[in-house]
Amino acid sequence: MPLSILLIGAGPSSLLLTLLLTRALPTISLTLIERAPSLRASDLQLDFKAQGTPLITRLGLMDAMRMHRVHETGAIVVGARGETLASYGIKTDAGTEGLGGLTNEVEIMRGDMVRVLYEAGLAKRKELEERGVQEGGLEYRFGTTVKGVVQDPSGDGVRVTFSDGREERFDLVVGGDGQNSRTRGMAFGEEASAASVKELGYQVAYFSIPRGEGDGGVARMYLAAKSRAVVARNGDRPRTQVYMFTSGNMERIKESYKKSAAEQKAVWRETFTGAGWETERFLKGMQEAEDFYSHQLVQIKLPALYKGRVALIGDAGYCPSVMTGKGTTAAFIGAYVLAGELARRPSDVDGALEAYNEAMKEPVRLSQIIDSAMGLPSSSLAVWFIRNSIWAASTLKIDKLYMKLMPEKKEKTGLEAWPLPEYPELDLAE
Ligand SMILES: Cc1cc2nc3c(=O)[nH]c(=O)nc-3n(C[C@H](O)[C@H](O)[C@H](O)COP(=O)(O)OP(=O)(O)OC[C@H]3O[C@@H](n4cnc5c(N)ncnc54)[C@H](O)[C@@H]3O)c2cc1C
Repeated sequence: MPLSILLIGAGPSSLLLTLLLTRALPTISLTLIERAPSLRASDLQLDFKAQGTPLITRLGLMDAMRMHRVHETGAIVVGARGETLASYGIKTDAGTEGLGGLTNEVEIMRGDMVRVLYEAGLAKRKELEERGVQEGGLEYRFGTTVKGVVQDPSGDGVRVTFSDGREERFDLVVGGDGQNSRTRGMAFGEEASAASVKELGYQVAYFSIPRGEGDGGVARMYLAAKSRAVVARNGDRPRTQVYMFTSGNMERIKESYKKSAAEQKAVWRETFTGAGWETERFLKGMQEAEDFYSHQLVQIKLPALYKGRVALIGDAGYCPSVMTGKGTTAAFIGAYVLAGELARRPSDVDGALEAYNEAMKEPVRLSQIIDSAMGLPSSSLAVWFIRNSIWAASTLKIDKLYMKLMPEKKEKTGLEAWPLPEYPELDLAE
């Protein structure tokens, strides 16, 4: 019998795993379910970097990803009147000016990224069938969730009950259902799942609004008193994405997560009213935004990434949080390593899971390192001081001086320096 795997959640992690397994094990039987009625189309801007870039290139998907690239030209910090206090990673004809910033080589909307991966998986399966592969298959089911998972007493499979009442057995279930994964609770128990969630002390709301006059190619970042920050980024898109971060009004915001989107929006309006800059326009746009969602920033830290025949990948298993900017890359690494271990020993799923868990310890640790704690100041005086320090550092070009004095900072460190293991079984291009 070919190996049968259920993947939960059509995010970057599960979709990449699906593609890699379809390529490496043509007779495998894959079922991927997604709670939403279709691929989630738009959402937010992501990047992938470090190991993610060669991986996508070796899969032959870089051109497709680049076709959807968001043309963001760097990031600036603005003051209350919209004046530029500092610029980061600004792309000009002469190269890139200034340190770091938000913008990476491939900036892409999450919806475009998942569509590229989804279509590549389907195309691969079609190609196999045209070549006469009859066994196995690839099925996507939208608008579907899992109600329960029960490990086989024999230890070699999982019985799954779906939201439509269907029951099926799989050799392996992989939860790639994001930071609030329900698979995690079902596999590890609700208590262990709750204990794995480490709050970082920030709440964040995301939504998009129609593009305004000043919403150009650069991302704009703004710091306000009462522990608030706003990022607005547009690149070259018809809608501007707004992220609002706060470490204030915590109890009211946390309480609102149990309520409707309209009630959550009311709490975010209350929290950001009077924040200055263009926040009033953003709050007005938020009222109409259909893609609004908010959550608390967390990291997921589990003692192991699998239990029996249920494994977790991506944010479900080891969410590093948006503060690290490494979520997608870590999700890709997990999908690659799990696919590699399964392709290496398809008849020893338990051995593959053990090897996956072991291999992921270091990249998970590295991806969860937060380089600089954001620390949102509460008082107006502290905000004034920080804005002026940012302006002074940028005007005096202290960042360039720093790069000269600290040459080792130019070298790859952290997750970037971690070498991706080689899996010839995955048959990726050199
Ligand atoms: C504003 C923002 C900016 C970001 N920027 C970056 C960045 O620049 N670089 C970076 O590396 N990372 C970034 N990240 C993080 C990145 O988006 C995630 O880490 C990454 O998408 C994780 O992928 P995933 O597949 O694990 O989970 P997700 O992308 O969360 O996907 C999970 C999927 O599972 C589905 N699902 C959930 N529950 C169920 C269920 N019960 N049953 C069935 N399906 C379910 C969801 O609908 C979703 O489609 C950013 C995140 C945000 C919010």
